[in-house]
Formats: sequence, structure tokens, C-alpha cells
Amino acid sequence: MTSHKQDDKQDDKLLDEFAFITEWLSPLADNKAAARLGDDAAQVAVPDGHELVISTDMLVANVHFPADAKATLIANRMLACNISDLAAKGAQPYGCLLTLGVAENWDSAFLQEFVQALGEGLKTYDMQLWGGDTVRARDGFAGLTVHGLVPQGEMLTRSGAQDGDDVYVTGSIGDGFLDLADLGSAYAAPMPPLAFGQAARNLATAAIDVSDGLMADLDHICRASVGGIDIEANAIPLSEAGRAHGDLAALVCGGDDLQIAFTAQPSHADILGIEAEKHRIALTRIGKFTANAAPKAILRAEDGQEIALQKRGFRHF
Ligand code: ADP
Ligand code: MG
Repeated sequence: MTSHKQDDKQDDKLLDEFAFITEWLSPLADNKAAARLGDDAAQVAVPDGHELVISTDMLVANVHFPADAKATLIANRMLACNISDLAAKGAQPYGCLLTLGVAENWDSAFLQEFVQALGEGLKTYDMQLWGGDTVRARDGFAGLTVHGLVPQGEMLTRSGAQDGDDVYVTGSIGDGFLDLADLGSAYAAPMPPLAFGQAARNLATAAIDVSDGLMADLDHICRASVGGIDIEANAIPLSEAGRAHGDLAALVCGGDDLQIAFTAQPSHADILGIEAEKHRIALTRIGKFTANAAPKAILRAEDGQEIALQKRGFRHF
């Protein structure tokens, strides 16, 4: 850092919304689509034969992160939550809009750190910044609206599961939930299986991102695809920390996993294994989908008994 005087000057500059946009955010923006954030709106062409896949996810202080959380954590988590939705739909990131509620304690150093992490994330995911909105807020918040691309008609949905499909999940379950307590790396810097999601586009029948809790998210596939899912409790992939924790019910309902759960025909098992290996993704078959069964995911012990679950996932209200 430089002299105290310069710090003061930088603070002044930052409290100015326009300087924040033109000097800090604009270098991250897609010059062609967004005119470096120098206009009211961006104009974006959709490549021939493709469709936009659009999703938004926002993080609010005291709900999704502690009010004194580091800017890097908030930026990375915001990016990952949004990329996770695109991953589950088999989409390739295209561009995004950033909605920022700047809390009183988000000073210039904080915002600088945020912009830095955002810039790195945009590069990592090969995604453009197209615009956004910046406001003052009592509780800080940070949201993205992401736009991805898929070949026309190829977006993975929650509704395509077929009778007899296998149910899979990527990565391990429960680590985001466990890391939330101390903001450990699975929570702070998750890596959604983006490339694998694109590879699964023509292999999966239905897919969802696991963000509220595995059981609650599988319930969504059940309702949309009209059928039930039987999950083998023993098959749920756990990390070492998850196994040490030992409370499977808490881990499968905890949320913050940012993995993909999906269904696929049994005949695709081999090719899915090959794709998972290629993309260095842990992939586990955890159960089966049965059409027209009660629309619910059921966790079963080895003897087939249903394991009762109190709370199936996170709900805001
Ligand atoms: P308006 O008053 O017309 O809504 P703004 O002053 O809010 O315009 O925004 C000016 C430009 O800056 C727009 O292109 C907008 O998309 C961009 N912008 C504002 N806030 C952000 C942000 N947080 N992230 C990215 N772009 C932003
Ligand atoms: Mg505006």
C-alpha cells in the first residue's frame, strides 16, 4: 500500500458510484457487447443455432455469508452458485450482469478485492461482464444473472427422467455444509463441474444442481419428471470429513454442495464413466428413478428400509 494520503483519495473515489463503474468494473467488461459499461444497456448476439440459458442467484449478508466475510469469498461463492446452475443445464457460460448492494463496511479495499476476484472468475469461466446495477444497501448483497449457451433444444431440464434411469451425483456430498461453519474451501471456493455438465448434455435425461440439499433437489427431479427416486444410503459419496462427521441425514440435506445430480439410461454408464475421468470428476451412481412412483426421493438403508429425514433441504421461507 502507498501513503495514507493516497488511501484517502482512493476512498473518496470509491464512494463515487460512477468512478467505481467506469474505473474498476469497466476494465472487466466485454467491450463489444457492453461498450465498456458506458451505456444504459448491452447488446448481445446469440450465435446461430444456439439458445440462451439464463439464471440468477444472489447472496445476502447474514443469510448466505457473515456480514464481515472477505470480498474474495463472496465473489467466488457468487460466481460458483451461478456457474453451478449453468453446469447442471449443460450450458457454456457466455456473459453476466452483476447486481451489487454495497454495505457501509464494504470499503475501497474490500471492493478492490471483490473486483479482482470477479475478474479472475470471469477469466476462469470464460464469461463476459455485460452490465449490472450498483446500489447502497444496509446489508451487503452480491448477485449475478448469468447467460449461458447451448445448441438449440439441448438444455438439460429437470423433467426428462425415464423409468429405470440410473441416478448419479458428481463430487462428494455434505462438504459445503460442513465447511460453512468455518468457511472452509468447499464452501468458499467450490468448483462446479462445468465441463462435465456440457459433456453430459447428450447423455443425461434430467439434471439439477445440488445446492439446497441432495434430497430436496432430487425431489425436484421427481416432481418435474413424475416419478420417484430410490437412493442407496451406502452409495452416497462422502469425503473423509463427511465420513468422520457420520450424520448422513444432515449431509444429504445440508446444501451448498454445488454438484450436479442427474439421471441417465443404464446403457450410458460406461461413457459417463469415461467422461467423468476425462474431466477429473468423481461420479457416483446413487440410485434409480421409477416413473409414476410417489414423486419423492427416498433414502434407503442396505436392508431396504427407508431412512427418515426431518428436513430435506434449505428453504429461505
Ligand atoms: P442507469 O442509471 O441507466 O441504470 P447505471 O448508472 O446504473 O445506469 O449503469 C451504467 C452502466 O454501468 C450500465 O451499463 C450498467 O450495466 C453498468 N453497471 C452498473 N453497475 C454495475 C455493476 N455492479 N456491474 C457491472 N456493470 C454495472
Ligand atoms: Mg442502473
